[in-house]
Amino acid sequence: MQSVTRRHLVAATAGLAVTALMPRIVVAQAPAPPAGPFKRDPLPYAANALEPHIDAKTMEIHPERHHQAYVNNLNNFAKDHPQIAQKPIPEVLAKLSELPEAIRTGVRNNLGGHANHTMFWQIMGPGGGKPSGEVAAAIDRDLGGLDKFQNDFGAAGGRVFGSGWVFVTVDRAGKLAIETKPNQDSPLMDGKRALIGNDVWEHAYYLQYQNRRADYLKAWWNVVNWNKVAERYAAAKAGTLAV
Ligand code: MN
Repeated sequence: MQSVTRRHLVAATAGLAVTALMPRIVVAQAPAPPAGPFKRDPLPYAANALEPHIDAKTMEIHPERHHQAYVNNLNNFAKDHPQIAQKPIPEVLAKLSELPEAIRTGVRNNLGGHANHTMFWQIMGPGGGKPSGEVAAAIDRDLGGLDKFQNDFGAAGGRVFGSGWVFVTVDRAGKLAIETKPNQDSPLMDGKRALIGNDVWEHAYYLQYQNRRADYLKAWWNVVNWNKVAERYAAAKAGTLAV
């Protein structure tokens, strides 16, 4: 008992000392994000739901700061250029050359980022599992089976120099292909659809994996929500897959 009391006292004193040393800074409230037509949906699972494969801190910072920054930038662009919010995202991204030059690169980066991350949060979830049904058959037919596909996808993701994404694209006939893109570029810019994609920007994995991108790419399969992927596959064939 004595030692517990003493420990508490020491801890309390240390706490007081630290508090006394802290500069008295008034912490400003974070500015409210600009209002506008672009919105980021909350994650469909808790931030810690993907542990131990993706850490909770990454799953807070990545959507709330990185993805949110893209959304905020889009809402700023939309103040003077409301047309970027008046068409479906795939249509805007497929016709970037029609945008005023002043916002073309900004929309490419930020709307690409918004689309990529919207897809990314959606296709992950706790539980893992394996593809089944039509998706599994398409992987066998077009990508050489699950093992070869996962190896090739990991290798392609590893070869992205700097920041970018590795995707599986899907066409209206349901045909799959692995494709990589730099920065926040998206298959939507080529008029294609992404069935899945993995973010290989360092912000997606650095807290837990540091330079070990290959380990992150391998572990990521444990958090792919194949039920959601199956829904996206059906939507792609029906022509209703948005982002
Ligand atoms: Mn990201």
